[in-house]
Amino acid sequence: MAKLYFSYAAMNAGKSTILLQASHNYRERGMNTLLYTSSLYAELDKKSISSRIGISAPAELYGREDDLYEQVSLRLENGPLHCVFVDEAQFLTRDQVWQLARVADRLRIPVMCYGLRTDFQGNLFEGSRELLAIADVMREVRTICECGSKATMVVRMDEKGNVLTKGDQVSIGRDVYVSLCRKHWEEATGRWPLAGADAPKLPFAEAGMQHSGADLIGALLDDD
Ligand SMILES: [Zn+2]
Repeated sequence: MAKLYFSYAAMNAGKSTILLQASHNYRERGMNTLLYTSSLYAELDKKSISSRIGISAPAELYGREDDLYEQVSLRLENGPLHCVFVDEAQFLTRDQVWQLARVADRLRIPVMCYGLRTDFQGNLFEGSRELLAIADVMREVRTICECGSKATMVVRMDEKGNVLTKGDQVSIGRDVYVSLCRKHWEEATGRWPLAGADAPKLPFAEAGMQHSGADLIGALLDDD
């Protein structure tokens, strides 16, 4: 039975790198893959998935109105397909997650989705919510907070390094995202007070801080 997979993580965990490597493994064996990514952040006419370590591959862009089951079915008229990959899967609609489930169940093609679990306010994305509900296999792609703990949360900062706690779930501005552990995320977003001289000094409190520890550390796949 073909399965619907969901690999989730915080920001900058290397999800796209893992996706591209997995697709490459199929193609190396002479099998065909179909890659999707969200049209939301795609630059004009740039139909590809690229990873921060410099590799990329052509991809179809999906918007909220697209019927992915229908698209994959049509694609099969050009020849066999062995796996469908979806990047930025948090932006899938509920219906589209079900369309992908049907690709696995009825077209018997495995579907591997990669995306963020929660937004900068700690809320599930629509696509992630549905994937967590119905995917056959879920895997966490690990990344690390500045403190060394597993990062599971994301903060959004403006260009000056101020942590933002309000705004749209999808930002098209020049905001920066940093992955943090839950404890430091609560402190960064002001849900837990940072009081006293003993309070840990958070790196994002430093002016001009533009990177996260996650940027420095490679992705670790949680295999269990
Ligand atoms: Zn931490």
